[in-house]
Amino acid sequence: MMFSGRTKNLAVIGWPIAHSLSPVMQNAALQKAGLDFAYIALPVAPADLPEAVLGLRALGFRGFNVTIPHKTAIIPLLDEVDAAARAIGAVNTVVLEEGRLKGCNTDAAGFIGALEARSFSLAGKRVVLLGAGGAARAVLWGLFQAGAAEIVIGVRNPQKARPLAEEFSRYGTIRLFEWHEESFRHAVRAAELVVNATSLGMVPEIEASPPIPWEEVQPGTFFYDIIYTPAETSFLRRAAAQGCPVLNGEGMLVGQGAAAFKLWTGKTADFAVMAEALHGALERGRSKKPKPER
Ligand code: NAP
Repeated sequence: MMFSGRTKNLAVIGWPIAHSLSPVMQNAALQKAGLDFAYIALPVAPADLPEAVLGLRALGFRGFNVTIPHKTAIIPLLDEVDAAARAIGAVNTVVLEEGRLKGCNTDAAGFIGALEARSFSLAGKRVVLLGAGGAARAVLWGLFQAGAAEIVIGVRNPQKARPLAEEFSRYGTIRLFEWHEESFRHAVRAAELVVNATSLGMVPEIEASPPIPWEEVQPGTFFYDIIYTPAETSFLRRAAAQGCPVLNGEGMLVGQGAAAFKLWTGKTADFAVMAEALHGALERGRSKKPKPER
């Protein structure tokens, strides 16, 4: 791709940032659309965040993604924050419009979009959600926006998760259980969708899985793990072995990127091109042999 004095700039800021897959995904989509934009990864240490944000504004960036550890810390540095980002308490996309910084959150849209692409409609559905961390907040917001009837949250530590459950109960019906409780077993039996938003099963601990009472699972219950490394977690492997439909987190990651692309460029990203670029990068990462110990 040829850059010129007219090229518009986009970035992702985080710390560390070298392993971000966003540049690969976004540049593939920008190139496919024939847009004169460049997307780069910028390492920003936590203490430098305010200066970095001012710098991006001064440099006239069109926008940028925000990742760990800045997603919440950036909020007070912005001029405006959309409803999703406010409810989720995290910004993953910033758009610069006439010098004003607008914070958005496209994680929920990515999460729901991937389900819709599988023709799963959430309207009136009973959902079990495992985990109550940062990603669970985007999942909860997305589930209620898409019309889920009831969400049962299963966690290891309900006391820690209670403030989150109370906060989100203003958007719909939520029940919270320790995931070995009998009531949680019943919820799994009744659920039409079970979502893993814990980090259990992510590399390198790939044998880990949240505790599901598999004997209670009804045929047809949809299992969605937002983890994307490995491609098939032990949670999804077990669900697939029971004949249940399954979905991993790759589509969510592409979807949040495609939604950010739309906010910056006004154009619809080629989802398949982004998905292929991401999948290729993930596969290259997965096939890398661990470095020998010295
Ligand atoms: P987080 O804020 O650290 O939350 C992690 C959650 O997992 C918490 O509920 C935590 O419970 C639970 N957990 C972690 N280790 C556990 C263990 N050993 N036993 C029981 N529960 C455990 O992380 P996050 O940002 O929400 O991310 C969660 C996962 O989502 C990660 O694997 C991440 O890669 C994935 N993710 C995917 C996407 C995507 O686009 N596909 C986007 C964001 C995140 P406690 O609070 O009790 O520790």
